[in-house]
Amino acid sequence: MSTPLEGLDGDGVAMSDTAFLENISSIYKRMSHAAMRAGRNPEDIKLIAVTKTVSIEKVKQAVDAGLRIFGESRVQEAQKKVMSNELRAMSERLSWHLIGHLQKNKAKVAVELFDLIHSVDSAELAEAINKYAEKHGKIQEILVQVKLSDELAKYGILKDNLVSLLDEIKKMKHLKVKGLMTIPPYFDEPGMARPYFKETRRLRDEAEMEGFKLPELSMGMTNDFEVAIEEGATMVRIGTAIFGDRT
Ligand SMILES: *Cc1c(COP(=O)(O)O)cnc(C)c1O
Repeated sequence: MSTPLEGLDGDGVAMSDTAFLENISSIYKRMSHAAMRAGRNPEDIKLIAVTKTVSIEKVKQAVDAGLRIFGESRVQEAQKKVMSNELRAMSERLSWHLIGHLQKNKAKVAVELFDLIHSVDSAELAEAINKYAEKHGKIQEILVQVKLSDELAKYGILKDNLVSLLDEIKKMKHLKVKGLMTIPPYFDEPGMARPYFKETRRLRDEAEMEGFKLPELSMGMTNDFEVAIEEGATMVRIGTAIFGDRT
């Protein structure tokens, strides 16, 4: 006999283990199909499982289900998870990415925790990360977050300033820029996000013509990841479609 409480995880979201595994396999299928529609190799696209507000127990289940790359929005929340008894033991096998905005005063902890920081959008922030990466004896991999309009997004560098930011970062010896990240506005109709993904890719191609190497494009979330893959995403950041609605 099952009681109504069974299947409730730490966040109070009801989801059975099978539903969870089915979510993950369905996302991989949808990612592959989108890649093939665009004539791309599905293996060139990484799934970043977004675990903000998700319990440690649930993250552990995700590891057991085979997921290895996790995206967190906040440094402190990530720190709790990375350092937890449950996950610390497997940390060698896991990769943590910071996908949310980073404040300069958290740069030190961010360098200690994250393999990739998706949200660098100013020379000042890059400088802070570079400083701690040097102290930590690390080359910190980063993405530059772009915003395609001032009205639409709070964070990100405007496209006209992208190349000069890339130029500045190039001088910082402990940073390695891997590509660009963007968050388009939310649309009920995912196709509406397509122009934003196209434009981000175009900015990448343009910067590559200036001599920068930017292989990674972090774009696409639960609602629009297939469109993002069709437009060249190499990393999709997916939370809700894996873990259910955030409470
Ligand atoms: C929360 C978040 C995601 C995941 O969003 P879902 O719609 O739940 O897939 C992706 N990227 C960023 C930057 C986020 O903050």
